[in-house]
Amino acid sequence: MTDQEAELRRLLVQTCLDMQAKGLSKGTSGNISVRWGQGFLISPTGIPYEDLRPDQVVAMRWDGGFDGPVLPSSEWRFHADILRTRDDLNAVVHTHSLNATAVSTMGRDIPPIHYLIASAGGEDIRCAPYATFGTQALADLAITALMGRRACLLAHHGMIAAHASLAGALKLAETVEELAALYLKCLPMGEPPVLSADQIAEVLARFRNYGQQRPPTEQA
Ligand code: 13P
Ligand code: ZN
Repeated sequence: MTDQEAELRRLLVQTCLDMQAKGLSKGTSGNISVRWGQGFLISPTGIPYEDLRPDQVVAMRWDGGFDGPVLPSSEWRFHADILRTRDDLNAVVHTHSLNATAVSTMGRDIPPIHYLIASAGGEDIRCAPYATFGTQALADLAITALMGRRACLLAHHGMIAAHASLAGALKLAETVEELAALYLKCLPMGEPPVLSADQIAEVLARFRNYGQQRPPTEQA
């Protein structure tokens, strides 16, 4: 194993622990993957995060093949399909966090109630219809709900957040959970007012150079 693979395995385990510490997933719920080599690395199925070791992370090929005794996450199909079909995404985080799962249970998309909805790539976060965990049907529904987006809800199940890096995917999962909590907090007062498509487009444009980045004219 290369040093680079060992480091990525360590980082994946740390991201699982961080996901649990942030209250986004407990026990064995949820799973994480990251693009690697001719496929991806993924958390194993049914091992509590606190017991997870880097050598138990499973290296999978795109067709679902893998070597070794440890079985991959039961959700490897949607991880594989997201990473294989989306070259803008390198890491996938799946959680059963309470607020996102509550909105998903109502079968609702999260509408543009806050400008941070744009972190998921567009003006809403769609809810994929229900399908049994671990199935290709669920993977297909997730891929559709993720079109033009980096996050979606899964009805009666949880959410998926994906990004260019493990840290980015975990951060987005946190944002989705906060947006879901905000939506649930607004709903008792009535269906909340929403931002327009133009307002979201303006936020998306601003996000392109938000943070500690210099505009191109100032770069050497
Ligand atoms: P795994 O332990 O197989 O990753 O399953 C957890 C889960 O969240 C299934 O949807
Ligand atoms: Zn799940």
